[in-house]
Amino acid sequence: MNDVPLKLFNSLTRSLETFKPEHDGEARVYTCGPTVYNYQHIGNMRAYVFADTLGRTLQWKGYKLTHVINITDVGHLTSDADEGEDKMEKMAAREGKSAWDIARFYQEDFERDLARLNIQPKQHPRATEYVEAMIAWGKSIAAEHCYELDSGLYFDTSTVPDYGRLARAVTDDGEGRIDIVEGKRHAADFAIWRKTPPGETRQMEWDSPWGKGAPGWHLECSVMGEALLGFPFDIHTGGIDHREIHHPNEIAQNQAFCDSSCGGNGTGANIWMHNNFLVDRTGKMSKSSGEFLRLQLLIDKGYHPLAYRLMCLQAHYRSELEFSWDGLGAALVRLKRMVMAVDRLVDACHGNLPEQREWHPKVQSLVNAFDLAIAEDLNTPVALTVFEDLLALKKVPAHHKVEAAYHLNTVLGFGLEHLMRTALRIRPKDAQITEAEIEAALIRRKEARAKKDFATSDAIRDELIVMGVEVMDGDPLGWDWKLG
Ligand code: AMP
Ligand code: ZN
Repeated sequence: MNDVPLKLFNSLTRSLETFKPEHDGEARVYTCGPTVYNYQHIGNMRAYVFADTLGRTLQWKGYKLTHVINITDVGHLTSDADEGEDKMEKMAAREGKSAWDIARFYQEDFERDLARLNIQPKQHPRATEYVEAMIAWGKSIAAEHCYELDSGLYFDTSTVPDYGRLARAVTDDGEGRIDIVEGKRHAADFAIWRKTPPGETRQMEWDSPWGKGAPGWHLECSVMGEALLGFPFDIHTGGIDHREIHHPNEIAQNQAFCDSSCGGNGTGANIWMHNNFLVDRTGKMSKSSGEFLRLQLLIDKGYHPLAYRLMCLQAHYRSELEFSWDGLGAALVRLKRMVMAVDRLVDACHGNLPEQREWHPKVQSLVNAFDLAIAEDLNTPVALTVFEDLLALKKVPAHHKVEAAYHLNTVLGFGLEHLMRTALRIRPKDAQITEAEIEAALIRRKEARAKKDFATSDAIRDELIVMGVEVMDGDPLGWDWKLG
């Protein structure tokens, strides 16, 4: 079962490769995590929905999964290319809190969003817990690969073969990168350690052989990946922006640290995968735009967060996905149809769900089709339609369909065993009326209609409209009412 060989697109070789675990029966995955200086926007969350779908697929295919998403709580400057201010210290100054408090607050918020999207628990190491290990790593590569400037210790990118082979946008981010750090040998060289400027104190700083300061951002992922997963590990993921600077720099550090013994041609990971961006033409996603698009905003407007998960899965992870409220609404309706179909099937089983060893051939053939789709570089758009075909199958025992649906749902991650239809109803935070009040009004209206008292029934309906409630008689989806 689930035995179609898993093919994944490796950004390093720019080709589909069959997944071969480094350790029998195991899959080890590292996903670049958030810089916890602010809330995550829904684009960031697309990266984690993708990583989670990968992790779930590996588990579904029988691998024991170890999955790390690191927490960047130090070292990330406002530009990925080592320029600008420190994101953590800048936010701490703006909010009048310590950088440590900022990090804890936004990490917790991030973890709440992960749970809301049914992203399975992973390991979340913090960069600040690995500073000693980062210093040790820096010491081991300094003589051969680094040079010191007044501002810090820099990695000389000409000391490793094929620097930047992962990157695509060579003209924009490689050669075209602005070199504002005085004394750098090559524009692409990057900081391993950033010294605290004389006369200044940072909230987050440590002693090192290169003076008091903080690690460069790229170093943490090399160090934590090696410490927690061992080189070479199986898969490294991140958004496509990381393919241009952050991951080439990680790879350069890994090459310097362990030469060709790192696996993946010395890069440290056998497969490098990148999700494309969620794009938003309204400009609300940018963290600098004040109210930006984060999961909480979707929830406040009344959308269930899993509608966003479904929206992500409707696009292949390597395609751009454009966000729109209409698109989110359509995803919510689609999710509701699935939940209702499963509800009906469960009802038809009368609570009797015997463990099924062999599924009906029609069910089995759709499970196989799902496996084919997901094994083809996680083709979730096709997998979703196969899933719906399964729910719609005719003349097949209901319990076969329910069991198969639960089985496939472990990959899709909608938690269909527990997701209630009523939880999916649109319910904006700023609504003037509670659900209980709406339900009570609708009961009164039903009674009036039963007595053919249409004047009262229309009056109740009009009152509800004033409160922003649309009554939807005979709605095929069974939404009896809608808010907003
Ligand atoms: P950051 O906190 O900026 O390091 O970003 C966290 C993750 O989100 C990284 O993997 C980024 O590549 C990814 N990311 C950032 N913006 C988007 C976006 N608009 N769509 C998808 N992924 C994104
Ligand atoms: Zn990283």
